[in-house]
Amino acid sequence: MFDLLIRGATLPDGRTNQDIAIRDGRIAEVTPGITAEAREVIEAAGHLLTPPFVDAHFHMDATLSLGLPRMNVSGTLLEGIALWGELRPTLTCEAVVERALRYCDLAVSKGLMAVRTHVDVSDPALVTVEGLLEVRERVAPYLDLQLVAFPQDGFYRCREAEAALSRALDMGVDVVGGIPHFERTMEDGRASVEALCRIAAERGLRVDMHCDETDDPLSRHVETLAAQTVRFGLQGRVAGSHLTSMHSMDNYYVSKLLPLMAEAGMAAIPNPLINMMLQGRHDSYPKRRGLTRIPELLAQGIPVALGQDCVLDPWYSMGTGDLLDVAHMAVHATQMGSAADKRVLFDAVTTVPARILGLEGYGLEPGCHADMVLLQARDTAEAIRLRPNRLKVIRRGKVIAETPPERTRLSLEGRPGGVDPAEYMPRAAS
Ligand SMILES: [Zn+2]
Repeated sequence: MFDLLIRGATLPDGRTNQDIAIRDGRIAEVTPGITAEAREVIEAAGHLLTPPFVDAHFHMDATLSLGLPRMNVSGTLLEGIALWGELRPTLTCEAVVERALRYCDLAVSKGLMAVRTHVDVSDPALVTVEGLLEVRERVAPYLDLQLVAFPQDGFYRCREAEAALSRALDMGVDVVGGIPHFERTMEDGRASVEALCRIAAERGLRVDMHCDETDDPLSRHVETLAAQTVRFGLQGRVAGSHLTSMHSMDNYYVSKLLPLMAEAGMAAIPNPLINMMLQGRHDSYPKRRGLTRIPELLAQGIPVALGQDCVLDPWYSMGTGDLLDVAHMAVHATQMGSAADKRVLFDAVTTVPARILGLEGYGLEPGCHADMVLLQARDTAEAIRLRPNRLKVIRRGKVIAETPPERTRLSLEGRPGGVDPAEYMPRAAS
């Protein structure tokens, strides 16, 4: 007797008509035609069943604060940072917790069940850290939250950041962050990368730095990050977030850089929504896209996860909590339009970030946690195109969110009575 049986699902790898049996919060079996009884049965009817979405890059201490204390008029990264600096001293722990919990409700409704969030440690009061540590505990039953100690105002540029970052790690923050391109000088940036990698090595922690989030082709801290990763033996535990300067770098230099990153076992975490919005602001025409070189990183075997970065905050007035929006933007911005490309970008919001975060028991194999999402789409390419309803969101074998299928009723003479958006892919193309 199983607790839950999902019948007739399509899986991200293309297998169809799969039954998934769940017992005691774990996946017991994945195979066609399971006949054993179950307390609850869900008919997937050929829809796509995926492990949960994972957001490898987010700022939960700032989310849902759009308009506080005012809007970002220039739309730039730098005004966003200044604006956050105005808001930060007014934050209370209760307000941070309340906004984060509300965001997590939205995340779960979209099938997003794991988030790596950077937490600003520039203000030594560490209200943000205190708040998000509480949130991490409160959401644990339904969402895995990983915290990065992030010196938003610069590890050396902000006088209190060095001590505050240490204290945040002592309090239980999981990952070491950084922002070398925002330090006062290139040399300070380089030194910050070295110091932060040393801290991570000494404490046995992972590293995830905002790195070279600029259009300046000479912002090359990613090279230092790769070198320090090797030096401190941090291979496989370091991620570079954004890496947008790579868009503008000289091709010859990039041909040296990519193998260095691969050698260091580094992961890359581009954030297509926010970087399409922020980069190229000083350009006239042509205007650079500013997104890092995703196809080239992938060709080098470097793991690429796509992050959301921001939802309704000083940097980004958009965002929905839906990682499929992120993948959708990536398809366009990188021109990765084939079915195989879309599969890769689907992995970049599911399995790859799960590996970068080091999530235990993630996946759809027997023995994994019974965490999964049933989408109103037939395959991964359709999921990205449609960003469809999450019919069922399942955590540890229990349905924790559900949305009825989208179906519009039509009243048109001589035409069908309704439209199901998931039934429109021409057969020749699938
Ligand atoms: Zn960020």
